Amino acid sequence: MMGLLVTVQPRLNLLDLGRAGMEALFGERGWKAFHGRNLLKWIHKHGVTHFEEMTDLPKALRTELADLAEVRLPGVAHEQPSDDGTRKWVLQLADGQRIETVLIPDGHRTTVCVSSQVGCALDCRFCSTGRQGFNRNLSVGEIVGQLWHVTRLLGRPPTNVVLMGMGEPLANFDAVVRAMDLMQDDLAYGLSKYRVTLSTSGIVPALNRLREVSDVSLAVSLHAPDNALRDELVPINRKYPLEELIPACEAFIAGDKRRKITWEYVMLEGINDSVAHAKALIRLLQGVPSKVNLIPFNPFPGSGYGTSPAERIEAFRQRLLRSGLMAITRKTRGDDISAACGQLVGRVRDRSRRQVPRPAVGGGVEVRR
Ligand code: SAH
Ligand code: SF4
Repeated sequence: MMGLLVTVQPRLNLLDLGRAGMEALFGERGWKAFHGRNLLKWIHKHGVTHFEEMTDLPKALRTELADLAEVRLPGVAHEQPSDDGTRKWVLQLADGQRIETVLIPDGHRTTVCVSSQVGCALDCRFCSTGRQGFNRNLSVGEIVGQLWHVTRLLGRPPTNVVLMGMGEPLANFDAVVRAMDLMQDDLAYGLSKYRVTLSTSGIVPALNRLREVSDVSLAVSLHAPDNALRDELVPINRKYPLEELIPACEAFIAGDKRRKITWEYVMLEGINDSVAHAKALIRLLQGVPSKVNLIPFNPFPGSGYGTSPAERIEAFRQRLLRSGLMAITRKTRGDDISAACGQLVGRVRDRSRRQVPRPAVGGGVEVRR
């Protein structure tokens, strides 16, 4: 007997739609726009995913919605609290990939560190996500779904979101911009532009595009004060060197006097932590509104790097401070549960390179002291 070939299309995932997408859907269907706004609120503000519970939507609309769409969240594979209050979620995606999200409470502030890709193709030498290779971009729903889960746990949205988990956000431009729009939207998470921070290793053309469409805050993974060293540590520098990156960053914050660029600088023993490096960094950032975040390197097996001793980090910081640069040292959080910066790994099946898999590790997250 001949079998029937039926292709089952996954339903539209409403978690993938920002305000504009929702408006377009409702316009297309001839549904009232304000019901679309209420639907966004139900999903993101109230955490409701079943249409029958969305009591202010007309019954007929709820039925039509159920035929067409659903709210499909990433599953929680496991959740791990740490001794210092940090929590890490391992989320399981529909295709079996895993990503990690970290929540860092710090006084009144609760910061969520969100992933934007499964793995990362940029291969920074000191980053275990990079070492895992790249598999794919996350969808809007997979990015914003991380925030959805955290908001349910807290009973309110976190105060801050940083795109500093797995992946390079600017390499997943459209989905990241739409997800950040939802983070800032009053119908969803309502965070101000000063409380959503995108961290990038410096994809200059994408940064220039971002300036046109988003006003989030910017953190840039600098890690070296000159091209020779940065070429080695952050290989994307070979394509977009410092003389292109720094002006693009300045342009990004131009026009807002309250803004500064956060420069992330991982402290690698004997590599980038000398007095000469500090002096070069001061020269490089002269006149640029800056905050420098010194990040003690989070080691992982086989990295080949060591963490600068605390005294050396402090001496480096003092030198920056004396020159008038704002500089803080991040403290490592969640290292007992492998949740630190650059140590998030999830489960990545690399499709970008064909190599012998490198060692899988776990890490901890960083927050400001
Ligand atoms: N891809 C983006 C965002 C994710 S990485 C970026 O590179 O900016 C978030 C931060 O963690 C970056 O500053 C990154 O350089 C840093 N990082 C990566 N590996 C690290 C490690 N092993 N120890 C400390 N920080 C690390
Ligand atoms: Fe990718 Fe950022 Fe890691 Fe570099 S530091 S490999 S850009 S995640």
